[in-house]
Formats: sequence, C-alpha cells, structure tokens
Amino acid sequence: MSILAIRIDGKAVSAAVREEVKQQAAALTAQGHQPALAVILVGEDPASQVYVRNKHKACAECGIRSLQYELPASTTQQELLTLIQTLNEDDTVDGILCQLPLPRHLDEQAVILAIDPKKDVDAFHPVNAGRIMSGDYGFLPCTPAGIMEMLRRYDIAIPGKRCVVIGRSNIVGKPMAMLLINAGGTVTVCNSKTRDLPAVTREADILVAAVGKPHFVTADMVKEGAVVIDVGINRNTEGKLCGDVAFDEVSEKASYITPVPGGVGPMTITMLLQNTITAAKIHKEENE
Ligand code: NAP
Repeated sequence: MSILAIRIDGKAVSAAVREEVKQQAAALTAQGHQPALAVILVGEDPASQVYVRNKHKACAECGIRSLQYELPASTTQQELLTLIQTLNEDDTVDGILCQLPLPRHLDEQAVILAIDPKKDVDAFHPVNAGRIMSGDYGFLPCTPAGIMEMLRRYDIAIPGKRCVVIGRSNIVGKPMAMLLINAGGTVTVCNSKTRDLPAVTREADILVAAVGKPHFVTADMVKEGAVVIDVGINRNTEGKLCGDVAFDEVSEKASYITPVPGGVGPMTITMLLQNTITAAKIHKEENE
C-alpha cells in the first residue's frame, strides 16, 4: 500500500501570514502611517477584474487602505504613465500595482519601468529583479515568495537539495530558481526545449511546476519522496480548476505536495500584502 504525500495547506499558511500582516498594519496605523496600496486596472478583462476585487478585499481584511483605479480599455500610454507618476509622488501611497496583462496597445515594460522601485510591490521592476540576483531583497515576486514561505513553515530544508523548476517566466520560473539558489539548493531550470524532461525532473528532491498545462507532471516524472509544488492554474476539460500536476497519482509518490486550488494560489495575494507592509515601513522610515 502506498503512503499519500502530506498536503501543504496554502490556505492555512496564508491565514497565519495574513494574521501577522494585520498586526503589522495595525501597528503602523497606530504610529500614524496606515499602509496603502494603489491598484490600477485597465480594461475589462474578467479574470483581472476578479484578481483586483480579491486584492481589494484582502487589503480591507488586513487593515491596508486600498485605492482602486479602474481605467477604460481606451486609456492611452501617456494617461497611464501620468497616473503612475502621480502615485509615485503621493506620500500617502506605499505600494503601486498595475494589473497585467494590459490591453495590447499599451507597453507593459514601460509601465513596469515607470513604477518607483520602492513602491513596486509586484517586484517586476528590473531594480527589484536585480536585487533578487544579488540576494539583497527589497520586495520578492509574490508567487515565488509564497512558495518559499510555505517551504519554510513546513520545515522543508533547501540546502543541498536537488531542485528542478519547470518554466522560465520572469514572474515565476526565473525568480523561483534564484530564490532556491540563494537558499542553497542545486537548481535546474527547464523549458519547452529541455531534452528528456522526465529524466531531469526525476532527479528533483524539490520539484516546482510552473508550466500552465493541466496534469503535465505525471507520477513517472517524480522521484519517490520528492516535494512537489504546483504553481499552475488551469481549467481541465470539464472546466474545473486544476494545476500542472496529476495530483492523485503524484500524491502516491511525493512526500509533500501542494493542491490546486488551496496551495500556491492563496499565498500569492498574501505575499502582496506582506510586500505592501514592507513598502510602508520603508516609506515611513524615509519620512521620519
Ligand atoms: P508562462 O510565462 O507561460 O511560462 C510557462 C513556462 O513553461 C515557459 O517557460 C515554457 O517554456 C514552459 N513550458 C511550456 N511547455 C513546456 C514543456 N512541454 N516542457 C517544459 N517546459 C514547458 O507561464 P507563467 O506565467 O510562468 O505561469 C505558469 C503557470 O502558473 C500558469 O498556469 C499560470 O496561470 C500559473 N500562475 C499561478 C500563480 C499563482 O498564484 N498560483 C501565479 C502566476 C502564474 P518556454 O519558455 O520554452 O516557452
């Protein structure tokens, strides 16, 4: 009989971190500096609307003031950059987030560059990306930061471990790999051109799947006893939410596994809240 992996409960970890965020927000507010996050949404993408609504709700629950800017899809590049500049200069705003993807006529890279790195709570600005390389963190990108937090809270040690990340995106795969390197892991990053992927993933003590394909990671790709982290958010053929990992079969081989939903997902917004607290602390110190 096989033993099932321990499910890493992202909701529980998230609730614990949010409690700490709430306490930090209350302490800052008591000192006259309520943390504030400005969220910009351009256009009417339904998924983005849900994300922004959830961010607003999460802020409210933790005592973070959230300002929402809902701009029409026809917004020009200049109008968007002007709003960001205004928020950069606004002393009452600690964090700025522009929900991606943007409508096609807008230049995402220019928008990322326009946000003051000290208010860049998504950590997409090259200054913050560079700081991850050097191990001198200001803000960490929310999804990889959330994964590191889950590993820490489940006492999963990284030094000396073989870590394999499937996916090399700027928001998940690359920063994830860098955080694992900084933590002492021996890290391999795979992509769509990787030869004999299963042979590589079977080497992993810690396997992170950030591919965007339902049930992509099957049991034959996983080493007995591996820790398996599923970043994917996909819909299966019945329209149900699922990850990149074939959860049931991989559960019979892994030691720890994150479910979808209820794993990495809840941590992402939570780390955004944590980043907003960090931004507020930096900002408060500067103003003192
Ligand atoms: P992405 O930019 O599309 O990157 C996907 C990566 O997977 C690429 O590097 C791609 O390789 C690689 N890949 C695709 N097919 C592959 C194959 N057959 N073998 C090996 N590698 C392959 O996606 P992303 O933004 O990183 O997101 C990945 C997934 O995570 C998506 O499902 C997304 O919805 C989800 N996500 C979840 C959260 C969360 O909060 N839980 C946050 C962000 C993203 P190439 O570079 O060679 O094309």
